[in-house]
Amino acid sequence: MQGKLINNSAKVASELNATFASKPVLAKLSRLGVTNKFELLLHLPLRYEDETHIYPINDAPEGKVVQIEGQIVHSEVLSQPRRQLVFQVADGSGVLFVRLLNFYGSQVKAFTVDKRVRLLGEMRQGFYGVEMIHPKCRVVHKGDPLADTLTPVYPTTVGLSQQMIRKLLEKLLNSHENIEFFSDTLPGSILAHYQLAGFKDSVMLLHKPPPDVSADSLQTRTHPAWRRIKFDELLAQQLSMRLHYRQRRSRNAPALPAKNKLTGALLASLTFGLTNAQKRTLAEVSQDLASPYPMQRLLQGDVGSGKTVVATLAALQAIENGYQAAIMAPTEILAEQHFHKLSGWLAPLEITVVWLSGRQKKKQRDAALAGIATGNALLAIGTHALFQEKVEFDRLGLAFIDEQHRFGVHQRLALSQKGKKASIVPHQLMMSATPIPRTLSMSYYADLDVSVIDELPPGRTPVITKLIAESRRDEIIMRIRDVCHTGKQVYWVCPLIEESETLQLKTAIETYETLSQMLSELKIGLVHGRLQAQEKSAVMKLFQQGEIQLLVATTVIEVGVDVPNASLMVIEHAERMGLSQLHQLRGRIGRGANTGICILMYQEPLSEIARTRLKIIFEHTDGFEIARQDLNLRGPGEFLGVRQSGVPMLRFTDLDKDFDLLDAAQSVADEVLSTHPQLARQHLQRWLGEKSEYLRV
Ligand code: ADP
Ligand code: MG
Repeated sequence: MQGKLINNSAKVASELNATFASKPVLAKLSRLGVTNKFELLLHLPLRYEDETHIYPINDAPEGKVVQIEGQIVHSEVLSQPRRQLVFQVADGSGVLFVRLLNFYGSQVKAFTVDKRVRLLGEMRQGFYGVEMIHPKCRVVHKGDPLADTLTPVYPTTVGLSQQMIRKLLEKLLNSHENIEFFSDTLPGSILAHYQLAGFKDSVMLLHKPPPDVSADSLQTRTHPAWRRIKFDELLAQQLSMRLHYRQRRSRNAPALPAKNKLTGALLASLTFGLTNAQKRTLAEVSQDLASPYPMQRLLQGDVGSGKTVVATLAALQAIENGYQAAIMAPTEILAEQHFHKLSGWLAPLEITVVWLSGRQKKKQRDAALAGIATGNALLAIGTHALFQEKVEFDRLGLAFIDEQHRFGVHQRLALSQKGKKASIVPHQLMMSATPIPRTLSMSYYADLDVSVIDELPPGRTPVITKLIAESRRDEIIMRIRDVCHTGKQVYWVCPLIEESETLQLKTAIETYETLSQMLSELKIGLVHGRLQAQEKSAVMKLFQQGEIQLLVATTVIEVGVDVPNASLMVIEHAERMGLSQLHQLRGRIGRGANTGICILMYQEPLSEIARTRLKIIFEHTDGFEIARQDLNLRGPGEFLGVRQSGVPMLRFTDLDKDFDLLDAAQSVADEVLSTHPQLARQHLQRWLGEKSEYLRV
C-alpha cells in the first residue's frame, strides 16, 4: 500500500480534545501513551477488583482479595509496636481486625464504633485472628447497592487517579458519536472461521465485565475478549510487516542470476564440500538474487555452521554479474578476519577485496574509498564505517550484514541506501548466529525471508561444558599448561564489568600479568577493546598462527572469531554474562578436530537468574534451544535488545502462550489484504497510527 494510511475523517473522529478532557488531563494521558480515543479504548485494565458481592467473615477465603461488610465494634490508635489505627469489624459470622499503618486524622474520626464499613482486601491470619492490613475501606449504610460489574484497575500515572481514568472511559464507552470507531475491522466470515469475539463486545466486556464472567479468565487473559484484543494486536503487526514486504517487492534491484563461473571456481578450490544445509540456503539466496526486487533475507545458523562461505558464494554471484558486494561486521576484529579469510579465497580468482576500518590510516582509507567508488574493488569489507556518507559505491548489488542482531534497524537501512541510483536498491542478506525463535521470527521479523542452516559441518563434536567455582582457579590454570603442552590453544575470557570499561580493562591487564607469571613458559597474548586496530590484529594474527598459545581476552572475541586449533576456553565470572553471549563465546572453540572444552568459572553466591542461566548453558549446546529459553527468561523486548527499538513491542500478547493466535493472524493478514484492503487500512490506522511509518524501514 503506497502513500498515507491516515484517513483524515477517522483521525478527527478519534482525536482527544479539550471538549473531552482538560489540557492537564490530556497531558497526563499522553504520558500513559494515550493520545487518541482508540488508545484510550485500549487502555485496558491491569486487573479487576470484585466488589459485586460480600463474603461473610468466617467464610471468606484467605490469601485472596475479598469484600467484607460489617460494624465497627472497637477502634483505637495504638502506639506500640508502631503507630497504627486498629479497629475490629463484626458481621455476625465473625470478627476481623483491620490495621492501618499510615493513616490520617480524618480516618480516626471516620472509623469509630458502630459505623458500618465495606472493606476490600486480602484476609490472612494475624496475631489476634484474621486480619486485613490496609484494605480499601469506606463507611456505608445498610443496603447501599453493590457494584454490578467487576471493578477495573487501570495503569495510572502521577496525578491521574483510578477514578479519573474510569470516568473518562465511562464517557467514551457511553458516547454514541463513536459508533464508527467501535466498528469491527474483521468481516463476519473471518470472525466465525477463527471463532473470534466481536471487537466492540470485547472492549466493552474488558472495561465493564459483568458479574458472571469468570474473574480468573480475565485475570489470566484467556477470556475470548482478551483473545480478540491480542488477535487484533498481532494482526496489526502482521499487516504492517506484509505491507512492508509488498512495498519492497515494488522496488527494483539488479537481477543477478547465477552464472556458476566464479562460484564454481571457489567451490572447486575449497578444502571441504558444502553441507546440505549450506547448499539449500545458498540456493534460496541465489534464487532471490536472480529476481529484480531487493532480497531481504535473514540467514540464520548456529555459531560455526558456516555462514561465511555461503555469503562469499552469494557475493561471487553478484560479482560475476558485474556488481559489487559489501560485508558489514559489528567489530573491527571480525571485519578484519573476514577480510583475511575472503582475500585468501578470492585472490586466486583475481578479485580485489578492500577493507574499510574506522581507525585506518588516511592513505589506506582513501585508497579503499577510491576502489569502492570506481568499482575496481569488487568486495568491500568493514565495520559500520562502510555506511558513512563518504563511502560511495559504483555498483553495489548485494550488501551483507553479519551478526545482524548487533545492528539497529537504522544502520541496516543506511547500507541498503548505498546504491548510486536511488531507484535501484541493493539486495540484502543479514546473517545471525543468535537464532531467533520461531515465535519471534514470525512476528517481529515477519517482513524478512528466512533461511536456516540447521546442520553443522561434519566432524564437529559438541563442546563439553564444565561449571567450576572460582575457588578452584589454580587447578584450572594448571590444566591450561597441560593443554598447551599438547599443542592446542586456549582462550581466557576476562570478566565483563558492565559499570566501567576502565575497570574491565584493568582487570584484563591484571589477569594477563598473573597468568604470565604463573605460566611463564607459555606464550601469552592479550586483546581488548582499547587496543588500536593494528595492535589488535597483530595479536589475533599471532594467535591464528599458533605463535600465541594462551589468549587473554575481553568479550571482544565474542563474535565470529575463528581459530580452529583453540580447544579450551575459560570464562571468568560466567555468572555475569547473558545466555547468548555465553553461547557465542563457547562457539569459538571446538571448531577443529579436537573436542572443545569450555570452563565456566563462577563466583558464589549465585543469584536465582544467574543459576538458571548457567544451568541452561550447561545442559544445552543447541543455539535454538538456548535462544528459546533465553526468550522465556527475558521476554521479547529484552531479547531483541534496545537496538531493535524501532519495532513496536506487543503489549497484550504473550507470544509463548498465544502462539496459536499468531498463526491465525498471519493467515488472516494475507486474506484481509487481498479481500478487504479498506478494512486492513482501518485496522492498521487504529492500532499503529503514526507508528506504522516506523515499520516501513
Ligand atoms: P559462522 O556460521 O559462525 O559464521 P563460519 O562461517 O565462521 O561460521 O565457519 C566456521 C568454520 O567452519 C570456518 O573455519 C569455516 O571455514 C568452516 N566450514 C564452513 N563450512 C564448512 C563445511 N561445509 N565443512 C567443513 N568446514 C566448514
Ligand atoms: Mg560468522
